[in-house]
Amino acid sequence: MKITKVTPWLLLATAAYNFGRQGEYIFVEVQTDEGITGWGEVTTTHPVANRAVCAVLQQLDPLVVGENPFHIEKIWNKIFRRFTYMGSRGASTNAISGIDIALWDIRGKAMNQPIYELLGGPIRENIALYTHPDPNIGPDEAKRQAKEIAESGHEGMKFDPYPHMKEEDNGYLNGGMTTRGEAEANEITAAIREGAGPDMELMIDAHGRFDVPTTVRLARSVAPSNIHWWEEPVPVESPQALRNVRDQIDIPISVGERLHTRWEFTTILENDLADFLEPDVTWTGGISELKKISTMAEAYYLPIAPHDASGPINVLAGAHVMMTVPNFYKLETARHRLVAYDNFIQTPLDVRKGRLHLPDAPGLGIEMNMDFMRANSDEQFRGE
Ligand SMILES: [Mg+2]
Repeated sequence: MKITKVTPWLLLATAAYNFGRQGEYIFVEVQTDEGITGWGEVTTTHPVANRAVCAVLQQLDPLVVGENPFHIEKIWNKIFRRFTYMGSRGASTNAISGIDIALWDIRGKAMNQPIYELLGGPIRENIALYTHPDPNIGPDEAKRQAKEIAESGHEGMKFDPYPHMKEEDNGYLNGGMTTRGEAEANEITAAIREGAGPDMELMIDAHGRFDVPTTVRLARSVAPSNIHWWEEPVPVESPQALRNVRDQIDIPISVGERLHTRWEFTTILENDLADFLEPDVTWTGGISELKKISTMAEAYYLPIAPHDASGPINVLAGAHVMMTVPNFYKLETARHRLVAYDNFIQTPLDVRKGRLHLPDAPGLGIEMNMDFMRANSDEQFRGE
């Protein structure tokens, strides 16, 4: 079998699923000469960055066309090494991730096996999820949604209660938070605790927005609501800043969605900088890389909780790996109602009592809804 084409699909923001990061989604199609097609996904960020990733994907044919899609390690390294001069993180590992996931989908379909059967086999029957209330809601609605999430069977939920600061409009991180913003966030968090009940694991995402004294102040001030983890306390660039925070707060720390490949996780592991790791399978290097990072973390007895701010393939790719990983905590779904994800696939994701039950069909276990994809995607990238 040989790869014949790599195609990015940029799904434009529409009311039908205005839901993902900036409302857009990127899927990656890898075709072969034997009629088997694999699918991957890249979690989207800003519309400009999304188009840059699609442009990289569109230029990868010379590196992958003609290769055997079963030779996943070879193809992964071949692409990765071509990008090391421009920086082997970010757009290049996003593109690699999308292709890697699609290659595992092809391998599963060709061997008539779900991907988790090819990664060592399942060690659990289903995947525990944690989820989110809607963003930018007040305390009353937050309390109502927290109760709804608890009643749906989820045992963990995450949110970012801190208001946007004006300085952030230009991308500048002033690193601070007003005392008024802090008070509002504490009120929302207390309302969520009240709605969700004492047993819910509440996680707060600081989104790498704060400087060291601010993140320490905010973490201490929200601690009475019993917080399970404090995510991305500081911007990703400084391990020393993370060290400083870790030495000053008692809430467990989670990082990883902005870390790309196994090499960027070594700093965290070797320096004891986090309690949970949250790699994003569509950014960090795909299914192959998530499995490797999970095994590295296992050696340090750290749990893995794959990040999701995207669509159905992100969730499924992470779930297939986590079916085989002993040190699994919970897998993220960016919203507690997944109907938007189901637009893209022919059979809805099977979520019951806060748990994802994987399809037993081969590969990722899904078929894309091509009519929906064609009707809502940007023609300049898919080249049809
Ligand atoms: Mg996050």
